[in-house]
Amino acid sequence: MLGKLIVISGFSGAGKGTIVKHLMEHFNNYALSISATSRNKRPGEQEGVHYFFVSKDKFEDMISHDELLEYAKYNENYYGTPKSFVAKQLSEGKNVILEIEINGALQVKKKFNDAILIFITAPSYESLVDRLKTRGTETIEQINNRLKIALNEARVLSEYSYIIINRDVERSATLIDGIVNDNSESIDIVSSTRTDVMDIIRSIENSIKTYVK
Ligand code: 5GP
Repeated sequence: MLGKLIVISGFSGAGKGTIVKHLMEHFNNYALSISATSRNKRPGEQEGVHYFFVSKDKFEDMISHDELLEYAKYNENYYGTPKSFVAKQLSEGKNVILEIEINGALQVKKKFNDAILIFITAPSYESLVDRLKTRGTETIEQINNRLKIALNEARVLSEYSYIIINRDVERSATLIDGIVNDNSESIDIVSSTRTDVMDIIRSIENSIKTYVK
């Protein structure tokens, strides 16, 4: 049987990377797609583990050779999903996770009807900003840019099948695994909190509008 394609997006600082790591380490049958990017390596990041770091020219080569399942520009850099790995893992029955931003997610949704789109949000604006600051890898200007991007992302949230408030990494990962395996309890929990989630997202949006000029 073919595996499922799972797209995980979320505001920068919402903790989606940690959730995905937890999912890979504690649940079975997942494969994580490693993206190509033209952005600079952050301290501690490794080639082929976090990303395939390539030049802008090389990235444009990959686009013209149709090597990418989807790609987008985010904060002035290219990010994209190499096709070959995803195809191989799906054919081997693995559930493949793409941790990508929304423009890429929408491209995947168009191409793969069955893809499961999950959006992760932090529980509040404060927790989002705290996480971006404690990561310590971005300048204030870059953090502000990421928050502005979050404003745009909030506009297309209706395209996502599920939205999860990340209050606890283990719980968020368990909910995602439940959704992927058609567990009705997980699906009910996530679906029934959608109105609360939208309230949280609106309050994050309002704070970003107030603080980021
Ligand atoms: P970061 O610079 O923080 O690693 O990633 C910035 C954004 O790019 C995040 O929202 C991340 O999910 C997204 N991203 C990472 N890889 C890809 C990809 O292959 N395609 C797309 N469209 N977005 C990606």
